[in-house]
Amino acid sequence: MLDGNAAAGLLQEVFAVEMTTAVATCDNCGASEPVGAVHVFRGAGTVLRCPHSDNALVKIVKTATEVWISFAGVRTLKTPG
Ligand SMILES: [Zn+2]
Repeated sequence: MLDGNAAAGLLQEVFAVEMTTAVATCDNCGASEPVGAVHVFRGAGTVLRCPHSDNALVKIVKTATEVWISFAGVRTLKTPG
């Protein structure tokens, strides 16, 4: 086992791709859609919801100094390799 630093290059690579064409699978209903096709709601933060079950897929809150991201509603996220 290594610590998280061993995945630094891989993480930088996978999160630097075009995210609107990445395909997210909803952890609630199992539907898969490109991120560009989900429903977006803006308030204190931004919430991306499944267009089939309304499950909160991704929650993003951005402050002046930090970005908080939750992918709790996403089962998998598929990007081009
Ligand atoms: Zn869903």
